[in-house]
Amino acid sequence: MPSTAIRMQVVSAIADVRAAVAAAREANARIGFVPTMGALHDGHLSLVERSRRESDVTVMSIFVNPLQFGPKEDLARYPRPVEADEKLASEAGVDILFRPDVEDMYASDRSVTVVAGELGSQWEGTSRPGHFDGVLTVVAKLFNIVTPDIAVFGRKDLQQAALVRAMVRDLDMPVSIVVAPIVREEDGLALSSRNRYLTDEERARARVLSAALASIVEKFRDGERSVAALEETGRSKIASEPLVTIDYLAVVDDATFLRPKQAVEGNAAIVAARVGKTRLIDNMILGRDKD
Ligand code: AMP
Repeated sequence: MPSTAIRMQVVSAIADVRAAVAAAREANARIGFVPTMGALHDGHLSLVERSRRESDVTVMSIFVNPLQFGPKEDLARYPRPVEADEKLASEAGVDILFRPDVEDMYASDRSVTVVAGELGSQWEGTSRPGHFDGVLTVVAKLFNIVTPDIAVFGRKDLQQAALVRAMVRDLDMPVSIVVAPIVREEDGLALSSRNRYLTDEERARARVLSAALASIVEKFRDGERSVAALEETGRSKIASEPLVTIDYLAVVDDATFLRPKQAVEGNAAIVAARVGKTRLIDNMILGRDKD
């Protein structure tokens, strides 16, 4: 732990995190917020670093949000390494770690939720019905609890980031959204809490996802503008891997998630695929060399 660090406060009650934030505000601190589901890796920690650069006090939440999991998804087995997460958060410089209980977040007679609308019904929304309503509902609640000045999200979940931006705009939430680059393994695989489900063989095969996206980016750089042709490049790359099944692969506008006919710089190549039983997502931006 860095010698200058003040001990991280760990709280689970909503009233306690409100009090901790209020105390920081008394001292005129700008509050940065990093919402996560835990099983922390360097991707999450890069968001903390970004928050620390842009604010005075960083709040991280760890909450495996049942509302965003479908009935057949991995809610029960989602990794929850409580102690390791606490250590990583503390070492990364998180000031306040908020780990609410499900019962405190969701009253049994709760009724009102956020609806993601059209933008939330495509791609991830088609594959995971209700997922984004669950995400936006919890993010809205967390914003109301933590009242951050800025909130940092990863571009790894590009559609989620677009939806959070849309919610903040459409519902006039007083928070600035920062979207940080994707952190990858050396072979290109985007870090994800779900990577730990992969067997050694699946892990080796999974690199085809980023390789396929990179081939699209490269083809764009070489002058190809047809979205259909760009998508075909990525698809054929993935077709060569028997353990990997595409859920969707597309070139889309990074804010509307609509698919243009002709690609332009700033469009996103997005992919979701199953590697064995594990579902992974990734994306890259056309016309940008680095994430
Ligand atoms: P999660 O714990 O999966 O809900 O993710 C919490 C936040 O971390 C989200 O804003 C994600 O987009 C972000 N994140 C997850 N993986 C990465 C990564 N490899 N690089 C950057 N940010 C990430």
